[in-house]
Amino acid sequence: MRGIVNEQLTPLMALRLGMAVATFFGDGCRILVGRDVRCGGDMIAKAVMAGVMAAGGKPYYAGYAPTPAIQYGVKTLGYDAGIIVTASHNPPPYNGIKVIGPLGVEIRRRDERAIEEIYFSERYRVASWKALAEDAGREDRVINNYVDAVVSMVDVDAIRRRGFRVVADCANSVGALTTPRILRRLGAKCLCVNCNLDPYFPARQPEPTPETLATTSCIVRSVGADLGVGHDGDADRAILVDEKGEVWWGDRTGSLLAAYVAGEYPGAPRRVYTAVSSSILVEEYLSKHGLTVEWTPVGAINISYKLVEEGGVAGFEENGGYIHPPHQLVRDGGMTLALFLEMMAREGAKASELFARLPRYYAVKTKIEMPRSKAVEAVRIVAEKYAGYRQVRIDGVKVFGEGWWFLVRPSGTEPVLRIMVEARSREEAVKLANSLIELVKAEVLGVKA
Ligand code: MG
Repeated sequence: MRGIVNEQLTPLMALRLGMAVATFFGDGCRILVGRDVRCGGDMIAKAVMAGVMAAGGKPYYAGYAPTPAIQYGVKTLGYDAGIIVTASHNPPPYNGIKVIGPLGVEIRRRDERAIEEIYFSERYRVASWKALAEDAGREDRVINNYVDAVVSMVDVDAIRRRGFRVVADCANSVGALTTPRILRRLGAKCLCVNCNLDPYFPARQPEPTPETLATTSCIVRSVGADLGVGHDGDADRAILVDEKGEVWWGDRTGSLLAAYVAGEYPGAPRRVYTAVSSSILVEEYLSKHGLTVEWTPVGAINISYKLVEEGGVAGFEENGGYIHPPHQLVRDGGMTLALFLEMMAREGAKASELFARLPRYYAVKTKIEMPRSKAVEAVRIVAEKYAGYRQVRIDGVKVFGEGWWFLVRPSGTEPVLRIMVEARSREEAVKLANSLIELVKAEVLGVKA
């Protein structure tokens, strides 16, 4: 559930959702509740908790915490479920509610439907007055439990010996509660940027991108840091900045980490999962390391459940979400950063040297406004036009060429067609993007060039 808080996402909805979730997980279910920094977070969290209690569940409030810290808390501190009040990377007016299952992973779509069914039919369990003697609980271990876990997953001595300087841009949200602490435990000097909690997100939009991290990239260069990291609003994403100030998308970071982790965990199935929105450089690079890449629909939950069911070395998205399975089967910004520092330490390399190992591609991302039905038609027409090429058709159409690729897909959340193109040169990428735009405009929207 996501929307502008107190307009589209109201405490009444939160109350009813809390009742539906506790009805679904059953009498006496223990539910961990946490939030990011956003406006209305306290109001929504308390309404959710009231709903959980009304339906006979027991909520425990963790307060401010990153999504991966709450997910790890659900998995390791004995909870039946979790509810996170966050709108992740969305703009500041938004808030949201996310339901986590006992493994710490977002619940499956079929469980979501079951909860929706209870919500819309209002078939809630109603606890008797005698069952309501206790107040909501507190859970104060979430942050320490998570920081300890992340630090325990990496070679602390090797990282400490390097004495890294790291700029941490936590988007004025909850990543500020964990990432600077992880860095200190790893003997790094942490320079905090946007680390005061501020629900208005005054410094930048909560989504970490080369544009929103422009200032942070300048800071990394000017203070001579070894690395920079930018989180989103709930710190499950980490976008890295090398010591030269170049900002790298998550499919680049993910490819380097997956190859590294494959060497560290030789027993793990030689598979890596990534969304179709990732670059084909993922395949080019990881096949050289004996790893098979499986493409998934966009949405991290698809990758998490692939790892739950089939196992693998890693899963990641181009937006900066990286999953390290030995730790937990969900995206984790703090874990991603710690692993990357370990790789830099063990391989004795600068960040820019590691990224230079990857094939170089130039990207163009654009979108065309149109209703969903037209966007679906556009995908069909583009797929026909490029019928002679290798294609992946699980979410829009991804076409693989020699030294170029593109993805054309209807957005899951807006009435737009998204177009992503990469090629060996910027000119080629722009040319290909323009030809796709022309094709779609002429054949789907009936606009003459
Ligand atoms: Mg997020």
